[in-house]
Amino acid sequence: MPKQNSRNHGSGGEVTNRLRLLRDLEFGQLESLDCPDCNKQAVSVWFSHPRRDVYRTWFVCSNCSFRMRARNSRRPKFYSDERLSHESDVYDDRLLKLTRLPEEEGENS
Ligand SMILES: [Zn+2]
Repeated sequence: MPKQNSRNHGSGGEVTNRLRLLRDLEFGQLESLDCPDCNKQAVSVWFSHPRRDVYRTWFVCSNCSFRMRARNSRRPKFYSDERLSHESDVYDDRLLKLTRLPEEEGENS
């Protein structure tokens, strides 16, 4: 029985949306990516470089609280110092110690 997956609701669709962000990044798109949460083209790509051999790619939505982190085992293709986010470095550092950020609640502005 063939199964069509063009429209996927639930967690599967979410994964697809996130993969799409990674794919857009592969094509060098670092601004105005589609947000999986609010569906606006408001996601920007940032990088953090917390340790010598550790690179991380961040997808941050300017319209809602969506944030996604991707771990890189080597320097990302489009990595640049201009896109280094120190805020993300700090966030990342805290993330290593805490599983949950207290600031995540009540940040609806
Ligand atoms: Zn959003």
